[in-house]
Amino acid sequence: MSQDEKWVYLFREGNATMRDLLGGKGANLAEMTNIGLPVPPGFTITTEACNVYSATGQLPDGLWEQLLAALKDIEQNMGQRFGERTNPLLFSVRSGAKFSMPGMMDTILNLGLNEETLQGVIAATNNPRFAYDSYRRFIMMFSDVVLAEGRAELEKEAFEEILEEVKHKHGVEIDSDLSAEGMKEVADGFLAHFHQHYGEHFPSDPMDQLRLSILAVFRSWNNPRATIYRNKERIAHDLGTAVNVQSMVFGNMGDDCGTGVAFTRDPATGEKHVFGEFLRNAQGEDVVAGVRTPQSIDQLAQEFPAIYQQFEEVCSRLEGHYREMQDIEFTIQNQRLFILQCRSGKRTGQAAVKVAVDMVGEGLITRNEGINRVPPSQLEQLLHPRLVKPAGLRPIATGLNAGPGGAVGHVAMDSAAAIRMQQEGKQVILVRKITNPDDLGGMLAAKGVLTSEGGRTSHAALVARQYGIPTICGCKDIRVDDANRQFLVAGTAVKEGDVISIDGTTGEVYLEELKTEPVAVTGDFAKFMEWADAARKLGVRANADTPEQAAEAVRLGAEGIGLCRTEHMFLGSDRVELVRDMILAEDETARQAALDRLLPMQREDFVGIFRAMDGRPVTVRLIDPPLHEFLPHAEHVRDELRRLQVEHSSPESVQAQIKLLAKVEELHEENPMLGLRGCRLSIVMPGIVNMQVAAIIGAASELAKAGEEVHPEIMIPLVGHVNELTFLKGQLEDVAQKTMEAEGAQVDYQFGTMIEIPRAALTAAEIAAQASFFSFGTNDLTQMTYGISRDDAGSFLPIYIEKGIFKQDPTESIDRTGVGRLMKICVDDARAVSPNLKVGICGEHGGDPASVQFCHEIGLNYVSCSPLRVPVARLAAAQAALGSTGPADK
Ligand code: PEP
Ligand code: MG
Repeated sequence: MSQDEKWVYLFREGNATMRDLLGGKGANLAEMTNIGLPVPPGFTITTEACNVYSATGQLPDGLWEQLLAALKDIEQNMGQRFGERTNPLLFSVRSGAKFSMPGMMDTILNLGLNEETLQGVIAATNNPRFAYDSYRRFIMMFSDVVLAEGRAELEKEAFEEILEEVKHKHGVEIDSDLSAEGMKEVADGFLAHFHQHYGEHFPSDPMDQLRLSILAVFRSWNNPRATIYRNKERIAHDLGTAVNVQSMVFGNMGDDCGTGVAFTRDPATGEKHVFGEFLRNAQGEDVVAGVRTPQSIDQLAQEFPAIYQQFEEVCSRLEGHYREMQDIEFTIQNQRLFILQCRSGKRTGQAAVKVAVDMVGEGLITRNEGINRVPPSQLEQLLHPRLVKPAGLRPIATGLNAGPGGAVGHVAMDSAAAIRMQQEGKQVILVRKITNPDDLGGMLAAKGVLTSEGGRTSHAALVARQYGIPTICGCKDIRVDDANRQFLVAGTAVKEGDVISIDGTTGEVYLEELKTEPVAVTGDFAKFMEWADAARKLGVRANADTPEQAAEAVRLGAEGIGLCRTEHMFLGSDRVELVRDMILAEDETARQAALDRLLPMQREDFVGIFRAMDGRPVTVRLIDPPLHEFLPHAEHVRDELRRLQVEHSSPESVQAQIKLLAKVEELHEENPMLGLRGCRLSIVMPGIVNMQVAAIIGAASELAKAGEEVHPEIMIPLVGHVNELTFLKGQLEDVAQKTMEAEGAQVDYQFGTMIEIPRAALTAAEIAAQASFFSFGTNDLTQMTYGISRDDAGSFLPIYIEKGIFKQDPTESIDRTGVGRLMKICVDDARAVSPNLKVGICGEHGGDPASVQFCHEIGLNYVSCSPLRVPVARLAAAQAALGSTGPADK
């Protein structure tokens, strides 16, 4: 850092490429200024200044001097002076990080007002009502955002109450009907309230106000809701926010003024038309914070046709310039249009796909750019279920369709309740009066959101859309009654905990508990996925354990099964008893008898899965978990034994329980994850895997004989030493050959192994000589490389992320430097001896876009993930092949 470093950029000094330094908003304000759009002049303080402030608690040296110079430049440009009594210049102060974080940080408007400059505004505008209105807004915002820190008792509600009292006294219902006198009373009331609470005067020096606001915006980078948002979005915590200081224009100066927010395309559906909201005689925060329910942008077309036309031109100009859908904030001051912000518009997964497909069709972007425009994780939203509506069903209420998809759940009346109910395992619909950025935690815990007020462009609606949370806003038919933790609709009270269904696609609310159904892959979505498939090099398979899951996987585009966890087939109620008999058997004959009864069941399972996969490869993993997982917990067995004894049950049942307890205790291990499981169990107790291989090859023979194509890949888990694999393979080859002979069939099968133990990765050359394929089990590989227990990491990983010790959770996204390095060594060493070795991944990371990118880079053949993430992986693989690191705007 040096004295000469540039901390402050006038808008005309920046451009759209400077997002790191100026934040997204600052870079776009600069770009719009430079292409000649009507942007009120201003300057941006850099993200680096924020980082200096976060580290030292001080503004960097030299910043203030640069700020004063920028201020002077703007004063000359505007012909107004900041802090001067005659025709004073006022500013807005807004945050703006590299990636937009709607509503997460702070904004202050009308900065520079005090008793003196107020008189200047009155004189200049000849509009005292407007001046006092601006003043009272400023006092409230400044108190709330800048001064309230650490003094929680001065809340927004207190100001709202003062406003309500004055309105009541003057007999008016809506804010804009309050006279100049009324507004003055409100402003005086606010100041008095402030003084009374804090025992100090509201800061009147405009320079003090400016400095305090800048510091508050810097601090807001680390407020809890911004932190939650960054964690969710995987935005680094060390980027910092820029601060944009911009000359004020006013949407609340009278009836020829207004403000609004609009998207160049519909952010819910992607349809190509200007979509947005507008409020006459109001300031931006009224729309964005969802405090007043705005009118549709069509109203602007009717009330200010010339301005609407100009605005449409700005929209198409910005779309053409950025070649991307834009989200634009505008203000009209005395019939003059100003653009305050543009950014690439947040949209639902459905809209993202439609906009990309349309823009390719319009020739605005190339097909490959189109593929890169859709964040892979958003595709999951497209597959979100839809409500099944029986004929004659009537909604009880209708609101604005703010986020598409159907959701069914228990009503929660605030965020805390939503989070609590979700932790209890319930599906939740969050019902609020207005959507507010503080509700982020509750919204993320909810399956759906319903609000009685607020518009489609409120911050929370944006967030809901982005996360694919079905949302209805501004539902006037319901009345939220927070005091009684219920809402009222058509004379009915719906209490917290009651179940409702909401359709975010149509805006309809139902009191019934409806069913949901999955969405089909058709139309634009299907076309988009075809493009992605043509671009990708990686194969995409699914993890599926049943014929139903296999069919779902194929529907979503899986090219095979990468992991069938056979132990899941043991867990059905009819099976687990047999498995227990097998475990408790006193001799080999009894054990074999139990296995013989399991064999036809397993075989039938495989026939179903092979049929569903219709000739695609199916990787079947032999039994993996330790045996105790199939037995009840020791505590439970002891309780049962006590009960049997107390109730004097038959000696046989007591005896059986004693035997069960003895077995449970015998199988107890201190570290079962590192114990008798995977191939170790199969070596010690060969009967189970022999039965499984007989079932797999038997099922495959059945299909082969019927002329159906089938390619089983038998996978041996948890190999750490090549001899484990050689030993088991020898034994199982024998079973396979014998089964084929008995069936009179020939099956194209392979034996391969999972790579889950660091030693296996490091001795890949030896192991590759014995295997037809490898599949990375990155759940175990991460667990063992890091020494982090998969089952217990929840107690510290979130804290690691919060404290920045880990940038990401390694159980979610591959740790490239550690686990990834092992994978790369493994692939390179294995292919050196077996160049065509097929290598895949079947740990949870297989559906994580960043991990898919990594798998592409190290040359895997395929990734395998849960069926619903198959489209996500297909797109991530395409983006990896196109060399993209994903859409620039998060
Ligand atoms: C793995 O370890 O990554 C894996 C796929 O196996 P499991 O999750 O069943 O242990
Ligand atoms: Mg594993």
